[in-house]
Amino acid sequence: MSKYFVYYESPKSHYRYYDGNSYKSTTNRAEINLGFFEMHPSYENTDEDLKRYYDKLPEWSEQIRSKFTKCNFDYLSKFNDMIAVEHFFLLFCKKSISTHDDVTFTEQSWIEKCKNSGLQSCKPTDKPIKVYSYDGKGFYQMILASDEFMIPDKEGYEATLDKLPKRKELKHGYYHVKITSDNPDARMVFSFNPDHVYYYYDLYFAMKHKKELDFNIELYQDNEPNCYLYDSVVPSSTIFAKWNKTINELKKEFPSNKLLKNLGSKCHGVISKRCQITVNNKELQQNLEKYKDHDIIRTTKIGEWGTKYYDEYHVLQSPEKPYKHNIRLKAQITSYARSYIGNLALENIETLIRINTDSFSMTKPWKELNKKLFKREEKSSGIIQFYNCNKYMHECWKCKEQYKYKDFVHHKCW
Ligand SMILES: [Zn+2]
Repeated sequence: MSKYFVYYESPKSHYRYYDGNSYKSTTNRAEINLGFFEMHPSYENTDEDLKRYYDKLPEWSEQIRSKFTKCNFDYLSKFNDMIAVEHFFLLFCKKSISTHDDVTFTEQSWIEKCKNSGLQSCKPTDKPIKVYSYDGKGFYQMILASDEFMIPDKEGYEATLDKLPKRKELKHGYYHVKITSDNPDARMVFSFNPDHVYYYYDLYFAMKHKKELDFNIELYQDNEPNCYLYDSVVPSSTIFAKWNKTINELKKEFPSNKLLKNLGSKCHGVISKRCQITVNNKELQQNLEKYKDHDIIRTTKIGEWGTKYYDEYHVLQSPEKPYKHNIRLKAQITSYARSYIGNLALENIETLIRINTDSFSMTKPWKELNKKLFKREEKSSGIIQFYNCNKYMHECWKCKEQYKYKDFVHHKCW
């Protein structure tokens, strides 16, 4: 077996890794590259757990491989989690997306203006309160395999509308609309985009709850196209059904195999990747001919200028196509997921404290919640004070001190 590494990131941009013999720390992201596998977040950020995770990988990889003797899918030989996830996707879905058009640069300009992230919201509390939290299990995998989640398969077109159609007549596409609301509940269940471009599912959500959440929806009229529309959409399940079934069968047979979680949850992000490469100054200067048609999207400066440690990293966009795969998912799945979570949260809005992508925190137990899809989440349940969506502290019932969850689990003053 070839050499591999496992790593974790903590805090941001501080990496700790292990190669089977020794541990090393770095802040250089480029060092975490080929042969690196990220430790699953259910493990603790300690050297001990890093080794435990390292030792488990060959067994888990072999469990998956044993199911695919014909094609020999070997996770550990795929250089990193991202490549493994991408290859697994291609294995099952390449054929079904062969009829999808390539994504165009015009589409890219609309896609990148959408808010392509999960819903995050919070009602901060002024003191610790009893909280019940639930976390989505295989949430994005479920969406990908769903018959209700529709994605465009053909190129669309820009258009200029005089006014928005009725909700039920709305086409799939990106809309340049100003959506506002002063209702605090709207902030909890809807993600406002400062760039004012929304995919179909967000706009549909705002139109559906217009009265209830006091949404004001205004189509931009500025002599530019105000939408990009698709005539052709297909259920996402036409691509992901077999992929989903295979992962679920594997999960059933190997419930503690953490690599299987990656195959399901990281897929949509990995396959929505742009056709970009990162080069440093020297590489760029030496290959000017090769990169002459590439656009520089972003430049990051490293180290102090004038010292030998100074360097610049450039992210270059390929001139041939904007995204690696011909699948329209990036804006679509995040928009669908937000409206799915938003609709669900509205059923219990009085007790809602926080939403973090696919997890909810409530002031009362949520009995009606689908327990197959959402499980009790310990790390954000208990007596907790919420400061914002990502900052919350557990309170000890005895000493009344506040602790972060990772310290709180080891805390025992009684
Ligand atoms: Zn205590």
